[in-house]
Amino acid sequence: MDMRITRISENIQRLTANNGGVFTGPGTNTYLVGNDELTIIDPGPNLSEHIDDILEIGSGRITKILITHTHQDHSPGAKSLSKRLNIPIYGCITESSQLRDLPIKIDHMVEHQSFIFSSDHDEIVSIHTPGHASNHFCYLFNGYLFTGDHIMQGSTVVIAPPDGNMSDYLDSLKLIKDFHVETILPGHGDPIDEPYDEIDAIIEHRLKREMKVIHQLEDCHPIDIDSLVPKVYDDVNALLHPIAKFSLEAHLIRLIENNLATFDGQKYSLVE
Ligand SMILES: [Zn+2]
Repeated sequence: MDMRITRISENIQRLTANNGGVFTGPGTNTYLVGNDELTIIDPGPNLSEHIDDILEIGSGRITKILITHTHQDHSPGAKSLSKRLNIPIYGCITESSQLRDLPIKIDHMVEHQSFIFSSDHDEIVSIHTPGHASNHFCYLFNGYLFTGDHIMQGSTVVIAPPDGNMSDYLDSLKLIKDFHVETILPGHGDPIDEPYDEIDAIIEHRLKREMKVIHQLEDCHPIDIDSLVPKVYDDVNALLHPIAKFSLEAHLIRLIENNLATFDGQKYSLVE
Protein backbone atom coordinates (compact mmCIF):
# COMPACT_ATOMS: atom_id res chain seq x y z
CA MET A 1 0.00 0.00 0.00
CA ASP A 2 1.28 3.45 -0.90
CA MET A 3 0.57 5.23 2.37
CA ARG A 4 1.92 8.78 2.52
CA ILE A 5 2.51 8.99 6.25
CA THR A 6 5.00 11.29 8.05
CA ARG A 7 5.76 11.48 11.76
CA ILE A 8 5.82 15.14 12.83
CA SER A 9 6.39 14.69 16.57
CA GLU A 10 5.97 12.14 19.35
CA ASN A 11 2.22 12.59 19.21
CA ILE A 12 1.47 13.99 15.75
CA GLN A 13 1.39 12.06 12.48
CA ARG A 14 0.52 13.37 9.05
CA LEU A 15 -1.19 11.41 6.32
CA THR A 16 -1.44 13.09 2.92
CA ALA A 17 -4.46 12.27 0.74
CA ASN A 18 -3.93 11.37 -2.88
CA ASN A 19 -5.76 14.44 -4.22
CA GLY A 20 -2.87 16.64 -5.37
CA GLY A 21 -3.64 19.47 -7.81
CA VAL A 22 -3.64 23.21 -8.47
CA PHE A 23 -5.66 24.04 -5.35
CA THR A 24 -4.33 21.25 -3.14
CA GLY A 25 -0.56 21.10 -3.80
CA PRO A 26 0.72 17.60 -2.92
CA GLY A 27 -2.74 16.75 -1.48
CA THR A 28 -4.72 17.46 1.68
CA ASN A 29 -2.92 16.75 4.94
CA THR A 30 -4.84 14.78 7.55
CA TYR A 31 -3.28 14.94 11.02
CA LEU A 32 -3.58 12.30 13.72
CA VAL A 33 -3.02 13.89 17.12
CA GLY A 34 -2.41 12.04 20.40
CA ASN A 35 -1.23 8.57 21.39
CA ASP A 36 -3.66 6.40 23.34
CA GLU A 37 -6.55 8.44 22.01
CA LEU A 38 -6.42 10.08 18.62
CA THR A 39 -8.04 13.22 17.29
CA ILE A 40 -8.24 13.48 13.52
CA ILE A 41 -7.81 16.97 12.09
CA ASP A 42 -9.26 17.32 8.56
CA PRO A 43 -10.06 13.83 7.26
CA GLY A 44 -9.86 15.36 3.77
CA PRO A 45 -11.83 14.28 0.72
CA ASN A 46 -13.99 11.18 0.81
CA LEU A 47 -11.47 8.85 -0.84
CA SER A 48 -11.92 5.28 0.34
CA GLU A 49 -8.16 4.46 0.34
CA HIS A 50 -7.47 7.57 2.41
CA ILE A 51 -10.20 6.76 4.94
CA ASP A 52 -8.96 3.14 5.12
CA ASP A 53 -5.41 4.41 5.79
CA ILE A 54 -6.67 6.67 8.61
CA LEU A 55 -8.53 3.71 10.13
CA GLU A 56 -5.49 1.46 9.81
CA ILE A 57 -3.12 3.90 11.54
CA GLY A 58 -5.74 4.86 14.12
CA SER A 59 -6.72 1.24 14.81
CA GLY A 60 -9.37 1.58 17.51
CA ARG A 61 -7.93 4.75 19.08
CA ILE A 62 -9.76 7.48 17.14
CA THR A 63 -12.23 9.35 19.35
CA LYS A 64 -13.04 12.58 17.55
CA ILE A 65 -12.76 14.52 14.31
CA LEU A 66 -11.96 18.22 13.96
CA ILE A 67 -12.44 20.10 10.72
CA THR A 68 -10.82 23.44 9.87
CA HIS A 69 -13.53 24.37 7.35
CA THR A 70 -16.06 22.70 5.08
CA HIS A 71 -14.38 22.94 1.66
CA GLN A 72 -14.49 19.78 -0.46
CA ASP A 73 -10.84 18.86 -0.02
CA HIS A 74 -10.98 19.05 3.81
CA SER A 75 -14.25 17.78 5.25
CA PRO A 76 -16.23 15.21 3.20
CA GLY A 77 -14.10 12.36 4.63
CA ALA A 78 -15.38 13.34 8.09
CA LYS A 79 -18.84 12.09 7.24
CA SER A 80 -17.80 8.51 6.45
CA LEU A 81 -15.20 8.36 9.22
CA SER A 82 -17.71 9.58 11.79
CA LYS A 83 -20.28 7.06 10.56
CA ARG A 84 -17.91 4.11 10.56
CA LEU A 85 -16.54 4.80 14.04
CA ASN A 86 -19.59 6.46 15.55
CA ILE A 87 -17.52 9.44 16.75
CA PRO A 88 -18.37 13.14 16.81
CA ILE A 89 -17.33 15.87 14.36
CA TYR A 90 -16.19 19.23 15.75
CA GLY A 91 -16.22 22.30 13.53
CA CYS A 92 -18.27 25.30 12.51
CA ILE A 93 -21.01 26.03 10.00
CA THR A 94 -21.92 29.58 9.03
CA GLU A 95 -24.77 30.83 6.88
CA SER A 96 -22.51 31.66 3.96
CA SER A 97 -20.47 28.45 4.23
CA GLN A 98 -23.76 26.54 4.02
CA LEU A 99 -24.65 28.26 0.75
CA ARG A 100 -21.39 27.17 -0.78
CA ASP A 101 -20.33 23.82 0.65
CA LEU A 102 -21.81 20.33 0.74
CA PRO A 103 -24.01 19.77 3.78
CA ILE A 104 -22.22 18.21 6.73
CA LYS A 105 -23.56 17.48 10.19
CA ILE A 106 -21.44 19.05 12.92
CA ASP A 107 -21.96 17.43 16.35
CA HIS A 108 -20.06 20.06 18.34
CA MET A 109 -19.91 23.65 17.10
CA VAL A 110 -16.58 25.17 18.08
CA GLU A 111 -16.25 28.81 19.02
CA HIS A 112 -13.25 31.09 19.21
CA GLN A 113 -11.00 29.68 21.94
CA SER A 114 -12.96 26.55 22.71
CA PHE A 115 -10.89 23.95 24.55
CA ILE A 116 -11.09 20.49 23.07
CA PHE A 117 -9.44 17.67 24.97
CA SER A 118 -7.53 15.28 22.76
CA SER A 119 -6.39 12.59 25.16
CA ASP A 120 -5.45 12.36 28.87
CA HIS A 121 -4.25 15.90 29.51
CA ASP A 122 -3.58 17.44 26.17
CA GLU A 123 -5.85 20.17 25.00
CA ILE A 124 -6.47 21.66 21.61
CA VAL A 125 -7.52 25.32 21.39
CA SER A 126 -9.67 26.53 18.50
CA ILE A 127 -8.92 29.91 16.91
CA HIS A 128 -11.51 31.45 14.60
CA THR A 129 -9.72 32.57 11.44
CA PRO A 130 -12.26 33.75 8.84
CA GLY A 131 -10.91 34.98 5.50
CA HIS A 132 -10.32 31.96 3.27
CA ALA A 133 -13.73 30.73 4.50
CA SER A 134 -16.09 32.33 7.01
CA ASN A 135 -16.21 29.11 9.06
CA HIS A 136 -12.44 28.56 9.12
CA PHE A 137 -10.77 27.54 12.39
CA CYS A 138 -7.13 26.86 13.21
CA TYR A 139 -6.30 24.48 16.05
CA LEU A 140 -3.41 24.93 18.48
CA PHE A 141 -1.85 21.95 20.23
CA ASN A 142 1.45 22.07 22.18
CA GLY A 143 2.87 24.93 20.08
CA TYR A 144 1.77 23.30 16.82
CA LEU A 145 -0.81 25.26 14.85
CA PHE A 146 -2.94 23.30 12.39
CA THR A 147 -3.80 25.96 9.83
CA GLY A 148 -5.96 24.15 7.22
CA ASP A 149 -6.20 26.60 4.32
CA HIS A 150 -5.51 29.71 6.40
CA ILE A 151 -1.79 29.28 5.79
CA MET A 152 -0.45 26.82 3.20
CA GLN A 153 3.11 25.90 2.39
CA GLY A 154 4.24 26.31 -1.20
CA SER A 155 1.15 28.03 -2.58
CA THR A 156 -0.91 31.17 -2.06
CA VAL A 157 -4.28 30.83 -0.36
CA VAL A 158 -7.27 31.69 -2.55
CA ILE A 159 -9.73 34.21 -1.12
CA ALA A 160 -12.98 33.73 -3.03
CA PRO A 161 -15.85 36.15 -2.27
CA PRO A 162 -18.50 36.19 -0.99
CA ASP A 163 -17.58 33.58 1.64
CA GLY A 164 -13.92 34.60 1.41
CA ASN A 165 -13.03 38.07 2.66
CA MET A 166 -9.65 39.81 2.31
CA SER A 167 -9.97 42.17 5.31
CA ASP A 168 -10.99 39.26 7.53
CA TYR A 169 -8.10 37.24 6.14
CA LEU A 170 -5.51 39.89 7.01
CA ASP A 171 -7.03 40.32 10.50
CA SER A 172 -6.99 36.53 11.03
CA LEU A 173 -3.31 36.40 10.06
CA LYS A 174 -2.48 39.11 12.63
CA LEU A 175 -4.61 37.29 15.22
CA ILE A 176 -2.35 34.21 15.09
CA LYS A 177 0.51 36.36 16.39
CA ASP A 178 -1.32 36.69 19.74
CA PHE A 179 -0.80 32.96 20.35
CA HIS A 180 2.30 30.99 21.18
CA VAL A 181 3.03 29.10 17.99
CA GLU A 182 6.27 27.24 17.30
CA THR A 183 5.42 25.34 14.14
CA ILE A 184 2.69 25.70 11.56
CA LEU A 185 1.24 22.45 10.21
CA PRO A 186 -0.64 23.46 7.05
CA GLY A 187 -3.48 21.67 5.30
CA HIS A 188 -1.28 21.52 2.21
CA GLY A 189 2.51 21.22 2.16
CA ASP A 190 5.21 20.81 4.78
CA PRO A 191 5.64 22.23 8.31
CA ILE A 192 6.68 25.88 8.62
CA ASP A 193 9.15 26.56 11.43
CA GLU A 194 9.27 30.37 11.62
CA PRO A 195 5.56 31.06 12.00
CA TYR A 196 5.66 34.78 12.78
CA ASP A 197 8.11 35.54 9.94
CA GLU A 198 5.89 33.55 7.60
CA ILE A 199 2.79 35.47 8.70
CA ASP A 200 4.56 38.84 8.23
CA ALA A 201 5.68 37.74 4.76
CA ILE A 202 2.13 36.72 3.78
CA ILE A 203 0.66 40.02 5.00
CA GLU A 204 3.37 41.97 3.16
CA HIS A 205 2.76 39.96 -0.02
CA ARG A 206 -1.00 40.67 0.13
CA LEU A 207 -0.54 44.39 0.79
CA LYS A 208 1.99 44.63 -2.06
CA ARG A 209 -0.56 43.00 -4.35
CA GLU A 210 -3.16 45.47 -3.16
CA MET A 211 -0.81 48.38 -3.99
CA LYS A 212 -0.44 46.90 -7.46
CA VAL A 213 -4.24 46.87 -7.83
CA ILE A 214 -4.32 50.55 -6.84
CA HIS A 215 -1.56 51.46 -9.31
CA GLN A 216 -3.21 49.58 -12.16
CA LEU A 217 -6.56 51.22 -11.40
CA GLU A 218 -4.79 54.57 -11.42
CA ASP A 219 -3.48 53.90 -14.94
CA CYS A 220 -6.43 52.11 -16.52
CA HIS A 221 -9.68 52.90 -14.74
CA PRO A 222 -12.57 52.45 -15.28
CA ILE A 223 -11.75 48.80 -15.98
CA ASP A 224 -13.55 45.44 -15.72
CA ILE A 225 -12.11 42.63 -13.64
CA ASP A 226 -11.18 40.38 -16.59
CA SER A 227 -8.98 43.11 -18.08
CA LEU A 228 -7.46 43.86 -14.69
CA VAL A 229 -6.37 40.26 -13.85
CA PRO A 230 -3.42 40.01 -16.34
CA LYS A 231 -2.20 43.47 -15.34
CA VAL A 232 -2.21 42.80 -11.59
CA TYR A 233 -0.91 39.22 -11.92
CA ASP A 234 1.61 39.72 -14.77
CA ASP A 235 4.16 37.89 -12.58
CA VAL A 236 1.91 34.82 -12.26
CA ASN A 237 1.47 32.01 -14.84
CA ALA A 238 -1.53 32.87 -17.05
CA LEU A 239 -2.98 29.41 -16.41
CA LEU A 240 -3.54 30.50 -12.82
CA HIS A 241 -5.28 33.76 -13.73
CA PRO A 242 -8.82 32.30 -13.44
CA ILE A 243 -7.98 31.42 -9.82
CA ALA A 244 -6.19 34.73 -9.18
CA LYS A 245 -9.39 36.47 -10.31
CA PHE A 246 -11.10 35.35 -7.08
CA SER A 247 -8.44 36.95 -4.91
CA LEU A 248 -8.45 40.08 -7.10
CA GLU A 249 -12.17 40.44 -6.51
CA ALA A 250 -11.50 40.10 -2.78
CA HIS A 251 -8.90 42.90 -2.98
CA LEU A 252 -11.34 45.11 -4.94
CA ILE A 253 -14.10 44.53 -2.39
CA ARG A 254 -11.66 45.54 0.35
CA LEU A 255 -10.71 48.72 -1.54
CA ILE A 256 -14.41 49.58 -1.90
CA GLU A 257 -14.98 48.93 1.83
CA ASN A 258 -12.10 51.32 2.56
CA ASN A 259 -13.57 53.96 0.19
CA LEU A 260 -10.57 53.71 -2.14
CA ALA A 261 -12.45 52.28 -5.14
CA THR A 262 -15.93 52.17 -6.65
CA PHE A 263 -17.81 49.63 -8.80
CA ASP A 264 -20.61 50.52 -11.23
CA GLY A 265 -21.74 46.92 -11.75
CA GLN A 266 -19.24 46.34 -14.59
CA LYS A 267 -16.15 48.43 -14.08
CA TYR A 268 -13.97 49.42 -11.17
CA SER A 269 -12.58 52.93 -10.63
CA LEU A 270 -10.18 54.45 -8.17
CA VAL A 271 -11.59 57.16 -5.93
CA GLU A 272 -9.71 60.33 -6.90
ZN1 LIG B 1 -10.36 25.68 1.57
